[in-house]
Amino acid sequence: MRIVWIYPDLLSTYGDQGNALILEYRAAARGHRVERVDVRSDQAVPEQGDIYLIGGGEDRPQRLAAERLRRDPGLTRAAGRGAAVLAVCAGFQLMGHTFYDEQEGVLPGLGLIDVTSHRGSVRCVGEVVADSDPQLAVGGAGLGPLTGFENHMGTTLLGQGVRPLGTVRVGNGNGAGAGTDGAHAGTIAGTYLHGPVLARNPALADLILSWADGDSAPSPVDERWHQRLRKERLAAVGA
Ligand code: GLN
Repeated sequence: MRIVWIYPDLLSTYGDQGNALILEYRAAARGHRVERVDVRSDQAVPEQGDIYLIGGGEDRPQRLAAERLRRDPGLTRAAGRGAAVLAVCAGFQLMGHTFYDEQEGVLPGLGLIDVTSHRGSVRCVGEVVADSDPQLAVGGAGLGPLTGFENHMGTTLLGQGVRPLGTVRVGNGNGAGAGTDGAHAGTIAGTYLHGPVLARNPALADLILSWADGDSAPSPVDERWHQRLRKERLAAVGA
């Protein structure tokens, strides 16, 4: 199982590396031989990954990441053959058609999923709880409420070809008043949730893994730590 983390030097503002660690741990627990590939922004994105992770970042690193990714066919080719992608915040915006940069205005993303991001009217900051899309399931169960925290100016509109990852109960997600967080289509998922999101939501980690290895009923792993964290974070926002 090859897990590719794209541009840790640009897009890793809120400990998004944790998403790679959680996937590595859970894939190994299911008997996979795991190889983690960290791709710096001066390196080419390998096409032969099973899971691609791309995290959050401030405007300038996000703009630099977009320039490099638009010149590099690796991620687009991997996504085209069905590799799993988890994109967080700035990374999520980059997976869409356009995103907003304070200096340059509207810039093109990779267009891997049917979303567009714009400048929001307010910065969205704080805890988020979103009820996951009921169409998403792994191990015979839904993903339950997704929790995380957000810090972004961009607001994201979903096109015809995607479904939201969740319906927001607390916080903003895709933007003030949007009512949803993130998007998914095929084997690509995007979200505004940091946390890292997979440490807070191990069911989402298993869903991403199932997209990569086809195992929709993964064997259980020790969830006590995750459960404590989830309980604590849900209680903190009264959800
Ligand atoms: N720069 C983007 C925004 O403000 C993404 C921020 C982030 O990744 N936390 O919308």
